[in-house]
Amino acid sequence: MAKKRKDTKAPNIQNFLNQLALISGYKLTRTKALEKMLCVKCGKEAKNFSDETSKKEYNLSALCQQCQNAFFFQIGTSSDG
Ligand SMILES: [Zn+2]
Repeated sequence: MAKKRKDTKAPNIQNFLNQLALISGYKLTRTKALEKMLCVKCGKEAKNFSDETSKKEYNLSALCQQCQNAFFFQIGTSSDG
């Protein structure tokens, strides 16, 4: 019997995000990262955020502040890689 865990996203979205984390070469799955307050990408502690928006973003993407910065920077400058 599987225990139900409360999450804001539907199970299939969670699966998708977990898969995405795996194929992206991330250290953890999103679910595991959120459970342990770690970053899904670098595996470090995700406790310090520069603002509320970043904190909320962590709940969605499970990325720490540094990885969020890198991620959004990448999007803004995707022409140079
Ligand atoms: Zn990180």
